[in-house]
Amino acid sequence: MKKEPIIGIDIGGTNIKAALVAGRKIEKRTRALTLANLGREKSIDQIISAIEPLRKKGKAIGIGIAGIIDSKKGVVKYSPNLKGWKNVPLARILRAACGLPVYVLNDVNAICLGEWKHGAGQGHDNIFLFTIGTGVGGAAICEGRLLFGAHGFAGEFGHTTIKLDGPKCICGHRGHVERYAGAKYIVARAWRKIARHKSSLASYDILTPEIIARAAKEGDKVAREVFDDVGKYVGIGVANIIALFDPDIIIISGGIARAGRFLFEPIRNTVRRTVLGREHRRYRIVPAKLGDDAGTFGAALFAELTSAGSEV
Ligand SMILES: [Zn+2]
Repeated sequence: MKKEPIIGIDIGGTNIKAALVAGRKIEKRTRALTLANLGREKSIDQIISAIEPLRKKGKAIGIGIAGIIDSKKGVVKYSPNLKGWKNVPLARILRAACGLPVYVLNDVNAICLGEWKHGAGQGHDNIFLFTIGTGVGGAAICEGRLLFGAHGFAGEFGHTTIKLDGPKCICGHRGHVERYAGAKYIVARAWRKIARHKSSLASYDILTPEIIARAAKEGDKVAREVFDDVGKYVGIGVANIIALFDPDIIIISGGIARAGRFLFEPIRNTVRRTVLGREHRRYRIVPAKLGDDAGTFGAALFAELTSAGSEV
């Protein structure tokens, strides 16, 4: 039997990406600007305009959005990308506007669901996924269920402490993973090294983790050192997660995963050196597979499973 398509939506600080998803296929895509600086009402209008061309063919709507989300009630309690969004009953508002059932979940949870069912996590029931971008996020599948936690905040890998007296994180606490692996901190680390050592990166006015990753692949020593440092810090965090959750697959998603072995080797080496019971565990640390579509797939899956009455 052919499954009816579901509308999957990924709401970011800049763009709203929507797609009509049928199983593993994206049938149609739409996109709108979030216009977060113009206020909540405007952003909601933009979401509705992204849904409209897909609405007639969709059976339900799934939405992935950054922040603290009450998935049971479909309420966005807080979103760092969307100023002024506090306790917004997004599912109820969109249902009234579009006439379809709406399910909302955290964006990293959506990516994790997508990679679990269609990407790097296929066939595994104990997964931890990290997203490393502007911020550092995490989500887990434990024993075949998405881990929400008591308040829905589980998986905040970026804000776990790896150095007690480390530099201050954006959240106010010290030595968190994000303070070492977030995009702007990777770039700052590169600039500090460029000031002291010769590097092809010195010719750039603006650096991004992607540019540094490319330079590492082309043999730039400074770029490789940057990822070596970052990989060691992330590796400490990953070893902690393995000790806690015992996953058999650890997925790293986000732009810096493109640094390939220059990032993955220091992570794997650090985990090997520090994790408890390594010889008894079979785990793999791998890059994500679905790229930018993971969140859209995952949001659609969440809507599909929840609307069918399955526990996710
Ligand atoms: Zn923090």
